[in-house]
Amino acid sequence: MTVAAHSVHLTPGAVDLHCHTNASDGYLTPADLVGLASAQQVRTLAITDHDSVAGLAEGIATGNALGVEIVPGVEISSNDGDSEIHMLGYFVDPQSPVLIRHLQWCQVTRLERVEKICQQLSRAGLPLSTDDVLQYSGTGSVGRPHVALAMIQKGYVGSIGEAFARYLGRGKPGFVQRENVTPVAAVGIIQSSGGAAVLAHPYATSAALEALPGLIEAGLAGLEAWYGEYDQRTRERLASLAADLGLIATGGSDFHGVGFKEGRMLGCVTVSHDVVDRLQRAATAHVPS
Ligand code: AMP
Ligand code: FE
Ligand code: FE
Ligand code: ZN
Repeated sequence: MTVAAHSVHLTPGAVDLHCHTNASDGYLTPADLVGLASAQQVRTLAITDHDSVAGLAEGIATGNALGVEIVPGVEISSNDGDSEIHMLGYFVDPQSPVLIRHLQWCQVTRLERVEKICQQLSRAGLPLSTDDVLQYSGTGSVGRPHVALAMIQKGYVGSIGEAFARYLGRGKPGFVQRENVTPVAAVGIIQSSGGAAVLAHPYATSAALEALPGLIEAGLAGLEAWYGEYDQRTRERLASLAADLGLIATGGSDFHGVGFKEGRMLGCVTVSHDVVDRLQRAATAHVPS
């Protein structure tokens, strides 16, 4: 698919607060992502890689060169029982010792999980090594999408979606539960790193909205309402819930790469720049004086 085919939603001055680079499971380098953002007329972009800030420095440097404002972010994975909840952190300090320690732990547990996934797949008759998978990951987080790419290369599946549906999803032969912090702990890590915490794609699991009261008590700043894949009614319902709860209604595409998934093109949803200002104020409210 070409970029042009996805460019129908062009909004000059768009603000996209959720996207991934190859520091996690995005397809583009940070520089290429910011270049695409500039071409898509996105003026403010948050880089929010899964459990990694390894793409921020390059993204910010390219943003400075191309005139795209980069919000330093991260998307922290957390577990609430069997449910995985993603917590976005905005304006985090990539040098924060608390954040660095947590993300280093994530890299270890992610690698251990990939090793176990490879063992399980091999036992299921699909030989795969950790090195096969690491060919597809960058300097940041390794995850199931990289396993899926290695499986495609081996000819085991035809697509990433098929790899998840048949082997990598919960209950499938290659599924391994990753050890994670709790959602409340994720909020704490983000705050300790000087950032503002936002509940990502709140309908990804029913546990997410159920966790809201505890998250608000822990200091949650916002709710991702204007999400790429949600329809307009869902977005409006979430925005109204955010307003009722005194939370900032944020938004973003959750872009991973051109053609990754319908409704996820960079800049396809946009929020007002006021949302960025409110997030920054919420973030600085936690910085110890
Ligand atoms: P991990 O963080 O290793 O558990 O992998 C989860 C990531 O895989 C998510 O962030 C998504 O980007 C991606 N993902 C999950 N389900 C699918 C799917 N069915 N097809 C493609 N990508 C998926
Ligand atoms: Fe992802
Ligand atoms: Fe997510
Ligand atoms: Zn994401």
